[in-house]
Amino acid sequence: MKPIERSTKLDGVCYDIRGPVAREAKRMEEEGQRILKLNIGNPAPFGFEAPDEILKHVIHNLPTAQGYSDSQGIYPARVAVAQYYQQRGILGADADDVYIGNGVSELILMSLQALLNNGDEVLIPSPDYPLWTAAVNLAGGNAVHYRCDEQSDWFPDLADIRAKITKKTKALVLINPNNPTGAVYSKAFLLALLAIAREHKLVVMSDEIYDKILYDGAEHVTTASLADDLFMLTFGGLSKNYRIAGFRVGWILLSGAKHLAKHYIEGLNILASMRLCANVPCQHAVQTALGGYQSINELIIPGGRLYDQMDLAHKLVTSIDGISCVRPKGAMYLFPKLDRKKFKIKDDELMVLDFLRQHKVLLVHGRAFNWPEPDHFRIVFLPHKEQLEMAMGRLAQFLPGYQQ
Ligand code: PLP
Repeated sequence: MKPIERSTKLDGVCYDIRGPVAREAKRMEEEGQRILKLNIGNPAPFGFEAPDEILKHVIHNLPTAQGYSDSQGIYPARVAVAQYYQQRGILGADADDVYIGNGVSELILMSLQALLNNGDEVLIPSPDYPLWTAAVNLAGGNAVHYRCDEQSDWFPDLADIRAKITKKTKALVLINPNNPTGAVYSKAFLLALLAIAREHKLVVMSDEIYDKILYDGAEHVTTASLADDLFMLTFGGLSKNYRIAGFRVGWILLSGAKHLAKHYIEGLNILASMRLCANVPCQHAVQTALGGYQSINELIIPGGRLYDQMDLAHKLVTSIDGISCVRPKGAMYLFPKLDRKKFKIKDDELMVLDFLRQHKVLLVHGRAFNWPEPDHFRIVFLPHKEQLEMAMGRLAQFLPGYQQ
């Protein structure tokens, strides 16, 4: 029989956070080995649980949530999202401009499928959250990476963005707060970026899923609040801020020059209807989450669990000789740098694989985030302090003698 090949549409589509190294960890676990997992930003399994009132509201609505909903989502959820962004300065935000999806992930795929023709280019940060690159390529586009500058707190290099714009560039993606770097962009930077988008008529896609996870006084500015003359998509969701990643709830808000995007919006509507609707019971979490007490605020201040783990993980990793790391201002990751003069690492994926096999700690290599050099890796600082201490202790043992 002829072998069954995968579609060539998947060429250039890659999501290594759950790739070969994670599969090896799974195999080791099946053998009975215990793995310390610092690879996925999934708060609940680490004991970061959802606020009770969210669960209560979902349970309360369960009996009446058995049918499909409107393809854009239930009305109270859309109103809550629109009001959230009104308060954040997007004055025209309206429930009709909100699309609720099964996580931001689904909406990233849909929004790019609706936009791109074959060969269209989208500017994406490097390093990135790799779904963005994968989704552009899957939609027939080309992901063109712009450099984020580690020397400048990982802010995107505006000159590099300018240099990479071509006639085919349709959109610019921003991840703020950033995964994996933890950068949070200033208003001045966002205004400069918007000026480029304006000059080149680019659609701006701003992934703000970590907008409430901020440290050390960082302030988050919603990009779309700074320009109402550009067409923008703002992405947000409940997975991280409210620790319910498994509920799969995210949203997009369309804003600004919607009159220029009539046909695009029709396309988005077709895609939204084709998948009928997002999970209905969990859409009931949105209004309670956004309107109620914001318990995340307790976790991100000194003495709060997430802050303290960030602080500790950062101290521990930077105390290893040959490692530096920009202290994150937001999100739940560190993206440390390995000194290439000290460590002769040619293949960062092999390095994390060897570390996993020898020390049973699972990290993600930097190139999984479309970072070009084999000199970074990502740590998730969701595990408890003792586990972070153990993991970083093992890294400090592993690295000095490591050779490829
Ligand atoms: N965007 C970023 C930057 C992320 O880090 C993640 C998940 O880690 C997502 C989107 C996807 O989130 P969701 O759970 O809403 O699909």
